[in-house]
Amino acid sequence: MKPEMRRTVIAGNWKMNFTPKEAKKFIKEVAPLVAGKDNCDIVFCAPYVTIDAAMKAAKGTNIHIGAENVHFEDHGAFTGEVSARMLKEIGVEYVIVGHSERRQYFAETDTTVNLRTKAALAAGMKVILCLGEVKEQRLSGITDEVVGMQTKLDLAGISEEDLKNVIIAYEPVWAIGTGLTATPEQAEETCGVIRKVLAGMYGKKVAETVTIQYGGSMNDKNAAELLAKPNVDGGLIGGASLVAEKFAAIVNAAQ
Ligand code: PEP
Repeated sequence: MKPEMRRTVIAGNWKMNFTPKEAKKFIKEVAPLVAGKDNCDIVFCAPYVTIDAAMKAAKGTNIHIGAENVHFEDHGAFTGEVSARMLKEIGVEYVIVGHSERRQYFAETDTTVNLRTKAALAAGMKVILCLGEVKEQRLSGITDEVVGMQTKLDLAGISEEDLKNVIIAYEPVWAIGTGLTATPEQAEETCGVIRKVLAGMYGKKVAETVTIQYGGSMNDKNAAELLAKPNVDGGLIGGASLVAEKFAAIVNAAQ
């Protein structure tokens, strides 16, 4: 059983998939399958140009729409970037920050992840903050140190009040899009490590309230076992969030 004060969040990360038309069709397909499943919050994070269509299609359902990134400046000469103020104005509620693909391909660092997180929180959005170790780090036995350091750096200067709007997604990089999933025990252990680090930063009581998701090849087959673990409060789902029946099965596993 999860503590009652912790909300389970099942979030899809569409990555660079779904045009506005495709998103509309997908939401119409998935909405009836997840209707009334209120034991968890349901979110899809969409490419910028798809957000508006997804939000319109999700209106009146229990589906929330988020973005996949946000810039830390409010406005200015940052070609190709989108600010928190812009997202907020169109009604975006959630934003993914620090996804490993951003860190890996777009030179995102803990410093910029921290700045982006602060900007999104200041604009009143909820942040899905991603962190996790790469394969070599797990193999050399330094996973706890890596995720501990990321947690501290990514949340540096973020108040206890703002932490209420932060969801942490523990995503071992070796498990993302690879079909390799952390075992439920590995997911539980590392989510537990993150919670301990949070306890050191904010106190045990506050740490117990933070939603910590697991992400990395979660699917309709393995979700129930992962979500049953006491420190795993939901999932961030890539591939399986593009298939309505698979995503709905994950939501069902969280009920
Ligand atoms: C992700 O993109 O955050 C993710 C976990 O992807 P996948 O489920 O495809 O591994």
